[in-house]
Amino acid sequence: MKITNLTIETRKVDPKPNPKADSLQELPGSGSVTVRVEAEDGTVGEGGASFGRIAGGPDALAAVIEHELKPIAVGSDVRYVAGTHRAMLVETEYHGSAGLAMFGIAAVDTALWDCLGKSLGVPCWQLWGRVNERIRAYAMVGWLNFDDGEVQEVCARAVGQGFRAVKVKVGYETLKQDIARVEMVRKAVDDDVGIMVDANQSLTAAEAVRRGRAFEQMGCVWWEEPIAADDIDGYAELTRSLDIPVATGENLYTAADFARFLKREAVDIVQPDLRRGGGPTALLQVGRMAEAFRRPYASHGGGPVQLNVMACLGNAMYLETGMIPEGSPMRLDTDGCVNVPEGAGFSWD
Ligand SMILES: [Mg+2]
Repeated sequence: MKITNLTIETRKVDPKPNPKADSLQELPGSGSVTVRVEAEDGTVGEGGASFGRIAGGPDALAAVIEHELKPIAVGSDVRYVAGTHRAMLVETEYHGSAGLAMFGIAAVDTALWDCLGKSLGVPCWQLWGRVNERIRAYAMVGWLNFDDGEVQEVCARAVGQGFRAVKVKVGYETLKQDIARVEMVRKAVDDDVGIMVDANQSLTAAEAVRRGRAFEQMGCVWWEEPIAADDIDGYAELTRSLDIPVATGENLYTAADFARFLKREAVDIVQPDLRRGGGPTALLQVGRMAEAFRRPYASHGGGPVQLNVMACLGNAMYLETGMIPEGSPMRLDTDGCVNVPEGAGFSWD
């Protein structure tokens, strides 16, 4: 069944006045791109990518999709999604299948799988084979620029929603400040609520070992992206030196990047991002490869696409999400797990 059309919609938002921040950057938000593909039977599938920053991001991505990926997707057979994914990688190889090219590939790949699932009337997990009905979720709520009162309030609210784990940003100037942040959060939540810490690439390997030992003593769940995302030697040193699991992967591209980290034992928990990872086709590859290395998968970012992927992974550990907004279709059980969506394609119901 052929794809007959692909449309691109960009949405721009005004930067927020008091943007949330981590130790690397401020995230005022800039908008998103939505891709819709239509098959010859009239079924429409949707995918997309949002931008935490970069004002021109949505327009630049729309151009990549229009000029480089749309000609590949239109006319392709929707049943050959993985083949189309491969063709898009080959087409963009000349300037590098990363960055915006990969954001575009991910958006189109998501739209194609969604279209295939909807044309058959089944959730995408049914196309791949499910392992899990429910996935544990945690709330990424503790931004670096929040003051003590704000971080305590938001973490307590997350637990009130049913989350059994929360993530906070660290990577302040000193270890003492980082410790104070975790202690502050611990006072606001029960002892059995997990706390993840994330330094967004801000430290040297030596400092990451020093701080990692402190977080280990404090019982944190994992130590996320403490050093530059591509510093594979540094990550190998961290996993050797620390008992606390080292998590990384939100800035890695495709299964090939993860293969290098897994082979070097440079990561304990893989954290693929839907956009940089390269769409559901690639996330399944990453997840299953990590499973073979006996390493857990914790998503970077949430939503129904990651949930469909994680439904099919024996090593699914945690879904990342934020506070659940009112009216959201995502349901959180009292044990902090979410149900995998039952709707066709990547829809919720
Ligand atoms: Mg992170």
